[in-house]
Amino acid sequence: MRRIAIVGAGQAGLQLALGLQAKGYTVTLATNRSADQVRAGKVMSSQCMFNSALQTERDLGLNLWEEHCPAVEGIGLSVPAADRPGERALHWSARLERYAQAVDQRLKMPAWMDLFVQRGGELQLLDVGVAELEALTARHDLVLLAAGKGEVVNLFERDAERSRFSQPQRALALTYVHGMAPMAPYSRVAFNLIPGVGEYFVFPALTLSGPCEIMVFEGVPGGPMDCWGDVQTPQQHLARSLELVQRFAPWEAERCRQVQLTDAGGVLAGRFTPMVRKPVLTLPSGRQVFGMADALVVNDPITGQGSNNAAKCSQVYLQAILDHGDQAFTPAWMAQTFERYWAYAGQVVAWTNSLLTPPPAHVLELLGAASQCQSLAALISNAFDDPRGFQPWWFDADACQALIAHHLRLAA
Ligand SMILES: Cc1cc2nc3c(=O)[nH]c(=O)nc-3n(C[C@H](O)[C@H](O)[C@H](O)COP(=O)(O)OP(=O)(O)OC[C@H]3O[C@@H](n4cnc5c(N)ncnc54)[C@H](O)[C@@H]3O)c2cc1C
Repeated sequence: MRRIAIVGAGQAGLQLALGLQAKGYTVTLATNRSADQVRAGKVMSSQCMFNSALQTERDLGLNLWEEHCPAVEGIGLSVPAADRPGERALHWSARLERYAQAVDQRLKMPAWMDLFVQRGGELQLLDVGVAELEALTARHDLVLLAAGKGEVVNLFERDAERSRFSQPQRALALTYVHGMAPMAPYSRVAFNLIPGVGEYFVFPALTLSGPCEIMVFEGVPGGPMDCWGDVQTPQQHLARSLELVQRFAPWEAERCRQVQLTDAGGVLAGRFTPMVRKPVLTLPSGRQVFGMADALVVNDPITGQGSNNAAKCSQVYLQAILDHGDQAFTPAWMAQTFERYWAYAGQVVAWTNSLLTPPPAHVLELLGAASQCQSLAALISNAFDDPRGFQPWWFDADACQALIAHHLRLAA
């Protein structure tokens, strides 16, 4: 059987490692944090995954928390009224056809790492750089780099044609809390778009201490929501989070009266540049390394797609490796396999990037029309599961107007 090495024990690397293992492959997994370190560390993501990504986990029997994790049953959008402080210019929500779920990666990744080892996998605790990649490529038929936002992924060349930004587009923060009043009549990702300031969204999840809510802040750089630099303690981070909700999304503040942090590690602040990288790295020896998921296509979390992409990337790569049988894993095969993933991920990137700059008039009209028309709200909400569904109307003004007219006619 082929020998495959994967660097990085995140959503992509672990899901692929476990999938290959189930098919009888010998897999080496190298990662720079042990299961205990991940479990005891800080939160890394809000990792809300929609149905088709969850299905890739179910297909591999990896949905270990499905019965315990609160369901995210819908999506809602609110935009404040510029001329009426504290009020909303528009708000709507719609149910998802199938629920989404968010399992804290501090819970999921250590459990998957343990499962990988129990099933006979070789787990190496290793901070991988060029020397380690050389050693891995010498001993394996294929080496995949799934190191997320780790420094090592900068070894892949930036794809200038496919990368729209060269700077971070949002100052990010996460706050995991217990005690938030649930959203009625159904749970949801409650998005709040605050023009010129950024976005605040919040949804239920499962963390180490049980069900919780994750508050996500996306501040426009230099604006009032880009405000985490002076925060020194988790309690200060919670206090700042609550101030922001009160100031920019006061209709959400009522739910927050009883909140407390899930744990001292339940906070995060940072920023990164959305980017696409070329998929194949040639080492000084002439041997190749193949990248996957965030290592190649890293999106701003504004649309909550990164873990979904990672799961779908691992599914595409798993199938490509199985289909390839005993043939050599050439650079051409790597490039071709990445293009199969890019056919999906490229559209996620286009949609996500479109939300990082002020929206064009037709998108504003669409979001407004959704508050008058439930079928439009449902269409937008359910496209989060597969953002290819936003084509062409999200991007094309004429197609958008035709869509709005069609739905308003149906509603009438
Ligand atoms: C604030 C925030 C909110 C988010 N919210 C969502 C959301 O709601 N929904 C969603 O779908 N996505 C979300 N994401 C994105 C999502 O978390 C990532 O896209 C996803 O985790 C990527 O998976 P991955 O396997 O590619 O990388 P990761 O999960 O980052 O895993 C990388 C792995 O590589 C290891 N590693 C790194 N460097 C090295 C090295 N040199 N040697 C060895 N190992 C190394 C790391 O320890 C880790 O195990 C969010 C991200 C952020 C930052």
